[in-house]
Amino acid sequence: MDQVTILAKNETGDKPFNVTFIHDNGKVKVTCNCPQGRKNEPCEHKFRLASNDLLMLDNPSQRGRLFEAHVWVIQSRVSDSLLELMQMYVEEKPDIEAIRKLEGKVAQMMKEGS
Ligand SMILES: [Zn+2]
Repeated sequence: MDQVTILAKNETGDKPFNVTFIHDNGKVKVTCNCPQGRKNEPCEHKFRLASNDLLMLDNPSQRGRLFEAHVWVIQSRVSDSLLELMQMYVEEKPDIEAIRKLEGKVAQMMKEGS
């Protein structure tokens, strides 16, 4: 088992959130200690860091560690759904209902490990 904790920007300017990636037997679990994340609900910290979004880093010097965790993600089953979600976010006319549904699915996969 291997584990990396990355600090995610807190949009309120408060203390950053801890996003932890746990890699075990080819599966990845992702947790975040923000209010939504603590309930294993969808949060942008998990989704954006798992997608290697460097703008979400509180501390840019962690980008090497983040890339390591991102490689675990892209080798895992959650990768396809996460990529689909990122594509939906940037669509010209986003289907909010479909986005919420997929966010729920990805959050569940990150909670259980996939
Ligand atoms: Zn979060």
